[in-house]
Amino acid sequence: MRSSILRLHYTLFEEYGDLGWWPADGPFEVAVGAILTQNTSWNNVETAIESLKSEGALCPSRIAAMNMTELESLVRPSGFFRQKARYLKQLASHIEREYSGDITAMSSLPMERVRAELLSLRGVGPETADTIMLYALRMPSFVVDAYTVRLLRRLGICDGDSHASIKAAFEEALDRDIAKLANAHAMIVDHCKSVCRPTPRCVLCPLREMCSEAEKQEERVSD
Ligand code: SF4
Repeated sequence: MRSSILRLHYTLFEEYGDLGWWPADGPFEVAVGAILTQNTSWNNVETAIESLKSEGALCPSRIAAMNMTELESLVRPSGFFRQKARYLKQLASHIEREYSGDITAMSSLPMERVRAELLSLRGVGPETADTIMLYALRMPSFVVDAYTVRLLRRLGICDGDSHASIKAAFEEALDRDIAKLANAHAMIVDHCKSVCRPTPRCVLCPLREMCSEAEKQEERVSD
């Protein structure tokens, strides 16, 4: 899998370059965005983050102390707002209580411990935990999401491999380089939103020479 991942990374980088993810003004904002982005578009997340910012509420102490009705109304644009307000409250209270409000203090701990701690919080699954670790804490924890799995399956790089083994393969192939892992996930998401969509646009794809699905798509078009 290593050589295929390297080829994938190289080809996407030629196409997209450095995408500068994650768009945020600080580590806690990354963590908030990682929770708010669940099951919604990034535009909605941006609106919710702007609401939090306009109230000066984008910090653990404010969110931990805020009443739920107010928090729900601020994050309402992101959808599932009651649930997400609860998740944010729990994350903020945890950071406030355990790290005196400084989320970056987690980055001095072993990765396994940080991941287990994040996963113990409600609303934080593997994808959210890895997003927080990679983009907020700058730890080499690759984010495997549904886009990654779909792309790798189509390319024939993985076939039924677990998220954990895909994650480990990327981390190993990209030498646990945080900048490369961060940009690799960004490029995959962008590519899957614009080109390798549910109905793929293979004629536009720089990966088609390494993709088994591309031939099938061409056959379907010529049928
Ligand atoms: S060639 Fe088609 S199926 Fe393969 S990665 Fe590109 S868009 Fe996806």
